[in-house]
Amino acid sequence: MLELQNICKFYRNGNVWTMALDNINLTFKKNEFVVVLGPSGCGKTTLLNIIGGLDVYSQEDLVLTGNALLNYRKSDLIINNVSTRKFSERDWDHYRSKRVGFIFQNYNLIPNITLLENVEMGMVFSGIKQSERRKRAIQVLTRVGLEEHMHKKSAEISSGQKQRVAIARALVNDPEIILADEPTGALDGASGYEVMQLINEIAKDKLVIMVTHNEDIAKEYATRIVRLKNGKIVDDVKTKPKFYHDPYQPEYENMTLYTAFKLAITNVKHKLLRTMLIAFAGSIGIMGIALVLAMSNGFSREINTIESETLSSMPIVISEVPRNYLAWPSMGTNDPFTDPTSVFNPISPGEETRHRNIIRTPYLDYLEAMDPTLVDAIQYNYGIQLLFMSKTNDDEIITSAANQINLRSLPKSLNYLNSQFTLQAGRLPETPYEITIIVDSRNQIDASYFDFINVNYNGVVSFDDILGQKLVVAMNDDIDIEYDVLTNTIQRNVDESSYLNGIELTVTGVMRAIPGGIESDTSGIYYQSSLERSFIDLNINSNFCQMLDDTDTSDYTQEQIEGLKLQRIQNGCRDLPYLIQIYPSSIEAKEQVLMYLDAFNIGLPVLGQIYYTDNAQLITDVLKSIVNNISIVLLSFSAIALIVSSMMIGIITYVTVLERTKEIGILRSVGARKKDITRIFNTETMIIGFIAGVFGILLTLLLAIPLNHYLESFMIDFQRLVVLRIDHAIYLVLISIILTYCAGLIPSLIAANKAPALALKHNE
Ligand code: ADP
Ligand code: MG
Repeated sequence: MLELQNICKFYRNGNVWTMALDNINLTFKKNEFVVVLGPSGCGKTTLLNIIGGLDVYSQEDLVLTGNALLNYRKSDLIINNVSTRKFSERDWDHYRSKRVGFIFQNYNLIPNITLLENVEMGMVFSGIKQSERRKRAIQVLTRVGLEEHMHKKSAEISSGQKQRVAIARALVNDPEIILADEPTGALDGASGYEVMQLINEIAKDKLVIMVTHNEDIAKEYATRIVRLKNGKIVDDVKTKPKFYHDPYQPEYENMTLYTAFKLAITNVKHKLLRTMLIAFAGSIGIMGIALVLAMSNGFSREINTIESETLSSMPIVISEVPRNYLAWPSMGTNDPFTDPTSVFNPISPGEETRHRNIIRTPYLDYLEAMDPTLVDAIQYNYGIQLLFMSKTNDDEIITSAANQINLRSLPKSLNYLNSQFTLQAGRLPETPYEITIIVDSRNQIDASYFDFINVNYNGVVSFDDILGQKLVVAMNDDIDIEYDVLTNTIQRNVDESSYLNGIELTVTGVMRAIPGGIESDTSGIYYQSSLERSFIDLNINSNFCQMLDDTDTSDYTQEQIEGLKLQRIQNGCRDLPYLIQIYPSSIEAKEQVLMYLDAFNIGLPVLGQIYYTDNAQLITDVLKSIVNNISIVLLSFSAIALIVSSMMIGIITYVTVLERTKEIGILRSVGARKKDITRIFNTETMIIGFIAGVFGILLTLLLAIPLNHYLESFMIDFQRLVVLRIDHAIYLVLISIILTYCAGLIPSLIAANKAPALALKHNE
């Protein structure tokens, strides 16, 4: 059944070679109880390990390099007429798990699982179903008399009982060969006797090879005694005959993945605190990344909200006044004159502007032809310096110019007005002759405005007090204009008739800016933009305009010509707008408006093309690129944290492997394949990775609550800035699993590649 031919075993320690076994020749039959006797260090354990496949015998090549004096001998271990010289790792695994049962001097039970589980462990690597495993484990434990103790752990029972558990484990697969290495060596007389009775009973239908010091035991039980000395057989005698039984030979499957998972879970459960601590350490990196992702997600979301709610109501601006290319980054405009590829593009002060939009009737017609549903309003600004007048209580006429009061035109878009202001009194203006007072978000307005419209503000001013106040716009021909072309200065003097003949305006509404809005600091007196149009219609043929038009500019300097042009604009002598604001009706409509504006330029020479500026886009682009850049920096930091924490997991796994070398040896002795060992360890690290990932996500969600509170406390416009996306969370858990898996891969391979015999000797 078993045949050892010329078996040698060398151990090499640097240049020192120890010959543990020297040319052993033995043949074992099925029904023998062989006792191996010999002094300590003579090679008994080595012999048993080689028979059991825990260690491999030295083959000739090794023998020759190890000791040149040795003659060539072909060594072999023949099992059931099959040579093991060409045995693969798999063959040995199979042999260990199905044909051999081991009993060790120090029991080699796994400490933190129950006796029942220990015995079941003997079958795990044979791929037997869980229910069947339990049934058989209970059977053998009953056979060794431990059915009452099977739910205890090994620390809770006596040494004799431990050895009986080890015997039960060795028997549970019903192997043909039982190998026992000094099974009673650590036991007292009584329990030693019990154990020997048990082994003797087993020996009735199996080949038992037992190593011992004890001559008495040998004489009492053995059917054959082999004596070893210095690795050589010195005696081999048969003592008594034995019965023959046909051994039962079951065929088993390999351990399933599911079993590896269950084993790993058991391990994780037994070291719950430690697992949780490792997972916690691992979760820090995940948490860092999750937080950064959550924040940048929250910010982008908020920016998008702002864009669609607030900024979408901002107008697209088409200006005749040259845009300063140095002041703005090249975003939010369809102007192609900025070249992002040029490294250095010197611009001298005079040529800052490369393009002047020339707004003429065809373009105005083009705008008017736009789909009206796309726009909320198109506002034309003519750049007129309207001269406003008011009367004091003493009937004295005062002007806006003299009082340095700046009145502005009200945005035409109702959407925009409603998004930035709330009406406090009266109504929105309807005709060109109605004006609106705007106070800022804290109800404030410069006192000079109140002086100008003759409102007494000593004491409480109610909004209704302001309604109905009057202003008058002066007509060109009703005022005395002194214009000096040389210095380009203009003096406009008014009198009673100017006031009486002017356009009368009435305050019909008071609005307040919304806190936190783009206009939160806006305040003043606002007229309708249509007032400019009315003024042009009434004044374009005025004497003053005629005078400007008729001026002979032939001997004027360029500067003087420019000054003249400006006066024409400011006094309503020109009926073309110099600034157009287009308010899109929605964010989707805006895209179409921009496309429509771009389409105008197709096929036109550069000089005739019209470029717009989209300030909303500009703002969101800048905000987004800031958030992106910050996120990248933060993500790099978190990535470092993640790498460090996975390295920690790797190191901890490695230490765990070292710590559990013995356990690995035991698992291997009951038939675990290398693959099984790596599977168990890999599953364990993946479980840790999973827990670490989930921990990280949970911590992020927890931290998000106070973080959101904190950020909201000083960022008025933003809400819920830390929002983790579900897909990000799932990816992060997966990344955590993969990273810890990778970190644990090398340690688990090291674990699996330990020679079983060496692993068992660990820490002895
Ligand atoms: P026994 O079990 O009879 O006490 P062993 O089989 O354990 O003896 O050891 C036989 C010899 O081989 C001893 O001299 C021991 O020092 C040596 N030996 C055993 N294992 C190793 C090893 N892993 N490395 C080096 N020498 C070893
Ligand atoms: Mg020994």
